[in-house]
Amino acid sequence: MAEKGENGVKVVREKLCRRCKTTFSPTSNTRSSCRFHPSFFVSRRHDDQRRYYELGPDDPPYAAKFYDCCGAEDPEALGCKTDVHVSYDDD
Ligand SMILES: [Zn+2]
Ligand SMILES: [Zn+2]
Repeated sequence: MAEKGENGVKVVREKLCRRCKTTFSPTSNTRSSCRFHPSFFVSRRHDDQRRYYELGPDDPPYAAKFYDCCGAEDPEALGCKTDVHVSYDDD
């Protein structure tokens, strides 16, 4: 997506990645640009129940939150997979 800038110069607009929520330049988007978790940050009981649910303030301590893909317990943990950024314009 290129638009004419103030001086008639073509400007490449930075796009927002819908996966990692950072802006990127489409001209430098490689398969190692986007770092993300392919699975969701989930809350799950530590028993055999495979039901996901959001932790509430009164939830028991045996519930845990982690990334289902790699087990990272920090929501800010760096992604365990890399790929190209995906903008909101792409399908
Ligand atoms: Zn992960
Ligand atoms: Zn990205």
